[in-house]
Amino acid sequence: MDEVKVYDKAISHYGIKRQLVMVMEECAELSKECSKIYRALEAGGTFGIDNLAEEIADVQITTGQVQRFFGLKDKVKEQRKSKLKRLAERIENENCKNQTDIS
Ligand SMILES: [Mg+2]
Repeated sequence: MDEVKVYDKAISHYGIKRQLVMVMEECAELSKECSKIYRALEAGGTFGIDNLAEEIADVQITTGQVQRFFGLKDKVKEQRKSKLKRLAERIENENCKNQTDIS
């Protein structure tokens, strides 16, 4: 299955406005799943991860359509690279600060 072809078909069938609403709805569903797991972790209870996987997939698929429609593949790739680098640097800096605080 060609993912890009499915994205194009979905946008062409439902329209970009409807798929933007789908992104909003799927992000809300993912947020709710994260909240459920957070609450279970706080309470020391058990939780399943199948729904989390489902909602992550939904967000990836709907955002993939929007990314495709607006031609954002390269910009998203750049942003991911830059943000991952910044995250790694922040963690490194925090580790250095923690070591300085201890010594
Ligand atoms: Mg969903």
